[in-house]
Formats: sequence, C-alpha cells, structure tokens
Amino acid sequence: MKITGLVVRNIRFPTSKTLAGSDAMHPCPDYSAAYVTLKTNSPSGLEGHGLTFTSGRGTEVVVAAIQAFKTIVVGRSLESIVGDFRSFWRSLASEGQLRWIGPEKGAIHLATSAIVNAVWDLYAKAENKPLWKLLVDMTPEQIVGLIDFRYITDVLTPEESIEILSRNRATRAERESELMRQGYPAYTTSAGWLGYSDEKLRTLCREGLSAGWTQFKLKVGAELDDDVRRAGIIREEIGWDRKLMMDANEVWDVNTAISWMKELTRFKPWWIEEPTSPDDVLGHAAIAPIAVATGEQCQNRVIFKQLFQLNAIRFCQIDACRLGGVNEVLAVLLMAAKFGVPVCPHAGGVGLCEYVQHFAMFDYISVSASLENRVVEYIDHLHEHFKHPVVMKHGRYMPPQAPGFSIEMRPQSLDEYEFPSGKAWQQWNRTVSAIP
Ligand SMILES: [Mg+2]
Repeated sequence: MKITGLVVRNIRFPTSKTLAGSDAMHPCPDYSAAYVTLKTNSPSGLEGHGLTFTSGRGTEVVVAAIQAFKTIVVGRSLESIVGDFRSFWRSLASEGQLRWIGPEKGAIHLATSAIVNAVWDLYAKAENKPLWKLLVDMTPEQIVGLIDFRYITDVLTPEESIEILSRNRATRAERESELMRQGYPAYTTSAGWLGYSDEKLRTLCREGLSAGWTQFKLKVGAELDDDVRRAGIIREEIGWDRKLMMDANEVWDVNTAISWMKELTRFKPWWIEEPTSPDDVLGHAAIAPIAVATGEQCQNRVIFKQLFQLNAIRFCQIDACRLGGVNEVLAVLLMAAKFGVPVCPHAGGVGLCEYVQHFAMFDYISVSASLENRVVEYIDHLHEHFKHPVVMKHGRYMPPQAPGFSIEMRPQSLDEYEFPSGKAWQQWNRTVSAIP
C-alpha cells in the first residue's frame, strides 16, 4: 500500500467562549488541532489520520511545518515505513534542514508527531487492530526496532529494553482480559478549571461524584487566596479519602512553587503538576520533595531522561503528540519502567484522551504490569467529534475496539470547525486574529 497524498487542516473549537480548559497559564484556549490525513492507493480507500493538539492561534504554524515534511511521506509504501520504523522516525526528527528549527522540539516536533501518529493509525487499520493491541502483539524485539535510542543509551539500551519487555510477558493475556472487563483507572479535570465560579466547581464536583469519579484535579497558581478557597470547596465536596491533584501549568518560579505548595499541602494534594518550566530539570528536582508530576510539555525523550536521572518527578505524564508520536512515547514508557516511575498520561484537549488510552493499555499489559499509582487524565470535552470516541465506565477507560488509533474525526466536524472557513467560525463571528 502506497501513501499517495497528505492533507493537513487547521481545526479549531471555540472553547474560550465557556472558559473550558482555562488554567493559570492559558486563560482562554481554543482547543485546536493540526489534522493530518494520509491518502493511499488501497482499493478499500484506507486512510491514516493523525493530529497534533494546539491551543488556537499558532495552529497555522504547525500546519506549515507538517507541509514541510510532505515529500518525506508521500510516495512511500506503508510496508517500507513499518519495516524499518526507527529509520523513518529519524528521517523526520533529524531531517537535514528542518532539524534546525527544532531540533526535536516546538512546532516542528508537533508536526512530526501528527505525521507519525497518522502512519500508526494507517498501520493499525491495515492490521485490523486497535493500536494498543497492535503493540501488545509485537515481540520485544519488534518494539525495540521502533525506537530511536540516540541520546538515551546512557540510561537505556536496546538490550535492557528487551529485558523490560520480556519480564511480564508470560502473564500479559491476564492483564488484557482484566482491562477488557474493568478498564483502566482515570481521573477527571473537568470540574476544576480556573475560570469556573465556586458554585460551578461545587456543582461539577457533585456531578462527578454521582458519575462515579473518585479522583479530581484542581487548577491552581493564579491567586493563592483563590486556590485555598477552591481547594477547601473541593475537599468539602469530595471528602478526604478521594484523591485530589493540583496543576499549576508552569506558572511559578521554583521558589514560588515551593512556598505556594507549603500553603496548599494541608489539602493533601496527591501531586503538583507542572509547577514550573518544563525545561527546568534541576528546578523540578528542587521542588521534588513535594510529589511532582510533569510531562505534557516535555519536548522530547532527553528531558524525560534527565527528570528520571535526577529523581525529579514522582509521576510521568507523557503526551501523545508533544513527543514525536508513538515511537518516542515508547522510549519514555521504557525509561519510566526502568526508573520505577508510574506513567499517568496527560489527556484532554481535543483527541488526547482518544490517543493516550492506547498507551496506558500497552503500558499495563506489556511494560509496567501494574496499576499502582497509575491513572489517566480524562476531560469530557469534544469527544462527539470523533468516529470512535473513548468509552468510559465508572470512571475508567475501556479498551478501544475499533481498528486504528481512535483519532479519526467525523467529516462533518472537520468541515464545520475548519478555521477560518468552517460554518462554526462564520456563524459565531468571533474575532480571532490569525498570525499573518
Ligand atoms: Mg496539566
């Protein structure tokens, strides 16, 4: 099967109208995506779909970066790519000229992930399996063949990776059937957006509890008094036995993070997420006596490597399209296993829940073999736009069944929310200034 074309679209949802998604760093995001479709010559019209999550303005920059990769992808056969996936990944991440505008970070790496994930969607559909199952059915050697170990062999070699992947292999069928029955644990971020009123926070906590949620996240970091009041409200509503996470979205300096969290520890946060710059590895290590979680903006496997080396994070929050797609995520899952750090994927946005559930399932079945201290983020926005949205039962992700990566959006949604021509944007007549 040959990839005959790549189409990329700028898809935006005007979520800033309701302040859904608001936090200390992003007060009014429009959840968006640079959305890739790979066309093929398959007689059945098979397509690969992938997206990179963005936050509104700037999506056009990622769209342009994806266009710049077009010639590397179009014309290739799927077989030649997946036959040596490591080399394909490196041909994008280390492209001789494009690398300069990264390397392996920022808009160009977001573009890499949209393309890489679209190839994986196509691959899984061609194999007639959901992505997690495709990965679970691979041998340890095949998984290792997907990963570019450049820059990480000082902490993780291909041989060690095979050892990690072989460790619990004999019992993986048990874990797979357990997931099919019970799903993978999740927590909700939907109640605690920073822009929500106290009353709305309270109502959403009650709704969350009655929907079966037992773990809640609160956005913090703008005003300490507000955080104290809101943390009090959420504890009043959910009690002290349920887990409460806090998320500052990178708003603090290192010393501010330490002093601010001193005031909030009495609310028993399970973790503080993104307390400071995602690049500040030593800063995270300084904050680390408090349980730190980070990763949604950690730009590549090198940053994760250093966070692990310095024991700077208690929870590893991989993102499906901040790293360079499936292949690089696998490298981080294996490093996390080596260092004994639980992986709690970042989700939400648009499509991130659909994406990361596959990694959580694979991690449990084939890598960590443990659910202890592991939980996937869940946010109840925008799932209706996907052909195969996540299925949640009693606050748990049920394993996706449809072939592919669950990321294909409905054609009507793509047309309606394409920026700026889609009906949604025409209709609501919003003033959104695109970067020229
Ligand atoms: Mg977060």
